[in-house]
Amino acid sequence: MSTATAKGRVLAADVASPVDLPPFPSSAMDGYAYADAAAADKSLRVVGASLAGHPYPGALNAGECIRITTGAEVPRSADTVVIQENCERDGDNLTLTERPTAGANIRAQGHDVTTGALVARAGQRLNAFDIAWLAAVGVESVSVVVRPKVALFSTVDELKEPGAPLQAGEIYDANRLALKSLMANLPVALTDLGILPDDRDALEAALGQAATEHDLLLTSGGVSVGDADYVKEIIERLGHIGLWRLNLKPGKPLAFGRAGQALFLGLPGNPVSTIVTYLLIAQPLLLKLAGTEAEPPFSFKARLAAELRHNPGREEYQRGILSRGADGYQVSVSGDQSSNRLATFSGANCLIRIRKEDGHLAAGTNVEVIPLKELID
Ligand code: AMP
Ligand code: MG
Repeated sequence: MSTATAKGRVLAADVASPVDLPPFPSSAMDGYAYADAAAADKSLRVVGASLAGHPYPGALNAGECIRITTGAEVPRSADTVVIQENCERDGDNLTLTERPTAGANIRAQGHDVTTGALVARAGQRLNAFDIAWLAAVGVESVSVVVRPKVALFSTVDELKEPGAPLQAGEIYDANRLALKSLMANLPVALTDLGILPDDRDALEAALGQAATEHDLLLTSGGVSVGDADYVKEIIERLGHIGLWRLNLKPGKPLAFGRAGQALFLGLPGNPVSTIVTYLLIAQPLLLKLAGTEAEPPFSFKARLAAELRHNPGREEYQRGILSRGADGYQVSVSGDQSSNRLATFSGANCLIRIRKEDGHLAAGTNVEVIPLKELID
């Protein structure tokens, strides 16, 4: 595909540079180019110019120099550039007020990249810097990995689309829009299958059909232990559940398995749990299916501003507000951490990782924090 639109995609093959970069010896500065060995001490005669994109066509003789601008080609007959601040020009006469060392201010041909050198690797996910490099060496198109097909749906019957009036007992479907937004930049081909029917047979038919057309079925809700949580049961019939329930908070009712040829990942239904498990588990899985490895997110230590309550037994990721104080980073919990309360994300800019063996942590304790920006693609 075109390099211009390949940001975020995963390369299917290594890319070697088709050119040297720079493609010719070029000047690093604005000044004058000359041959050091042939320079008559400190005075030179200006015989022309090499401007970026407009090389000097001739060859320099002893005692001659040319005006040169940054990025312009240095003629083979020159080997040194004096910066314009270190000389005085009077008509065609140039006097060096400071003589640079031989070879100064010239970027050799291929000094950045030589022809054939690897500029990007198979499995690499292209970011803006990679695109810059590919463009600089003139690579106009790249072969990329086919995006995995992902079917997204919500499973819970009490859900309504935002905008529709709520009937008794109904709530809005927050998770599907959250997941869609979180996946927007990922190299996956997403199909939004909406809110699945409540009827078991219809649900089984819909999941079975989706499984034939996608690489991954991604759901939220319907995999806990409630009577109506029959998604798991249906997946067991279509394939199998290999993993159910994690010792993680939020995110305990998570299911992973296979439905026919497709993988199945069932995220918990509570919106906070959905988002946290998406970030920690679904996103790395999606990137793996897309042909690349997710880098572990950067984390660092910050001081707790107040006591953090935690009972040993489960690893927990609380939402936190991280700020930089006079003596380093400090973090506070963003209010009540119930897994149904999206309010815990408002103002939050990190996850606080609490180890499973930790109990209540006193104010001042150093805890591990992961900036949310590290996790959001
Ligand atoms: P479940 O895992 O199906 O038992 O769902 C747990 C909680 O999450 C229930 O209170 C559901 O109403 C809620 N929930 C499930 N799916 C969604 C969704 N798509 N948007 C908002 N809340 C949801
Ligand atoms: Mg339920």
